[in-house]
Amino acid sequence: MVKERILIIGGDAAGMSAAGQIRKRKPDADIVVYERSGFTSYSACGIPYYVAGLVEPETRLVVRTPEEFREKQNIEVHIRHEVTAIDPDGGKITVHALETGREFTDSFDKLLIATGASPVVPPVEGADAAGIFSLGTLETGIEARRFIDDHRPEHAVVVGGGYIGLEMAEAFACVRGMKVTLLDKSPQVMNTFDPDMAELIGNAIRSIGTELRLGEGLTGFTSRDGRVSSVLTENGEIPADMVIMGLGVRPNSSLAGEAGLKLSVRDSILADETMGTSHPAVWAAGDCASTTHLVSGKPFWVALGTVANKMGRVAGISMGGGSASLRGVLGTAMSKHCDYEVARTGLSEKEAAELGLAFSSSVIKTKTRAGYYPGAEPMHVKLVGEDGTGRLLGGQIVGGQGAAKRVDIIAAALAAGMTVNDLVDLDLGYAPPFSMAWDPVQIAGRELLKKTGGE
Ligand code: FAD
Repeated sequence: MVKERILIIGGDAAGMSAAGQIRKRKPDADIVVYERSGFTSYSACGIPYYVAGLVEPETRLVVRTPEEFREKQNIEVHIRHEVTAIDPDGGKITVHALETGREFTDSFDKLLIATGASPVVPPVEGADAAGIFSLGTLETGIEARRFIDDHRPEHAVVVGGGYIGLEMAEAFACVRGMKVTLLDKSPQVMNTFDPDMAELIGNAIRSIGTELRLGEGLTGFTSRDGRVSSVLTENGEIPADMVIMGLGVRPNSSLAGEAGLKLSVRDSILADETMGTSHPAVWAAGDCASTTHLVSGKPFWVALGTVANKMGRVAGISMGGGSASLRGVLGTAMSKHCDYEVARTGLSEKEAAELGLAFSSSVIKTKTRAGYYPGAEPMHVKLVGEDGTGRLLGGQIVGGQGAAKRVDIIAAALAAGMTVNDLVDLDLGYAPPFSMAWDPVQIAGRELLKKTGGE
């Protein structure tokens, strides 16, 4: 009997989650993974903490090596192999072995595209100078860390105030004790937050001594002896020994697009609830693939490790002949900047307005624990709810230790389609070291009820 041959492009969160699920259901199939970098199953999310020096060595970020996949699960992984073309109808891919330069084709019965996303790099002058890093793979994290060890930079400029920018600014300012400037051309940091909550995050960034320059676009870099020496902006020049680019990511979907597969929002690969694409022999999962927004019901793309792992699991079960589906996601995300935690889920006011929804919102300031209990920290919660129906639409949190993870209550309520009233009625746990008798999320809910209709 001819063995089924299943190929996977990309050997990180989505690709290797899928590979494991396929193996469970298909003990005899050939499962072969092609991965461009030198690592499999690494935690890209841990890169800021490795660059900071909080985690070492870098191998601690690797969950499973290619050898372990081979020995424990009989999954064949070829690292430093780049897939350069897909022929879905012919059931073939073209592979370029990066170390030997050899080019060959491999054939498949089923194919998973799990190529992730790549950092956006603007075409500005001087961007090729040493000391400028866009963090995407573990290898780029290792290079950034080596640069710090070799050159001991004193002033870092972080371009882009999103999650990665915030985490890298933390690594430099709070852990490495470097002078940090955070630059963003938009008038606020963290664009997935509403301006009022983003302002709290901006204040938190400034309060630890980081210089925050908002509304100021990057125009280029100058270098000395090949190493970056300053960042040029619309308003002037900022001296820099090291630069991190955190300008967001784009899905790696060009292989799929060139192969004729349908694309969706932001050029992510169109995928259904089982992660199947527009071709019956091809699946897509992770940062390269689309899903649905659970609140808006619209096609949605988000690059998050949580989502990539779930998509990979569903793709693997589907490809293995099982039954699984991912209804959608909420864009639930969190980050930390020194002592401040931030989190969001569902729709912001900005997104609700874009969808033409009639909504109200509440913002409350409270404490992470009972006010009298040691370690109680300030915390802000914002909730957005639909007028008339009382449906909960989203939430955002900024606060001290223990604040961010509360976003999961809001995410669970959103996934269950709850109203603000349902959220207020939830039987959540309480003791002074953890909360007040009313959880902060429910206090925000009670405030919101006054606007959306309720007691
Ligand atoms: P990737 O992890 O990007 O893996 C795709 C793989 O495919 C790559 O290894 C790439 O080398 C390979 N590949 C691409 N093209 C080809 C090709 N043509 N041939 C062969 N191989 C190819 N998410 C969170 O939820 N929380 C966090 O705190 C968080 N922090 C992050 C911090 C940083 C610095 C970064 C960079 C990301 C962070 N993320 C976080 C996002 C998270 O890491 C990604 O969403 C997740 O890794 C996506 O998994 P993936 O498998 O879809 O893609």
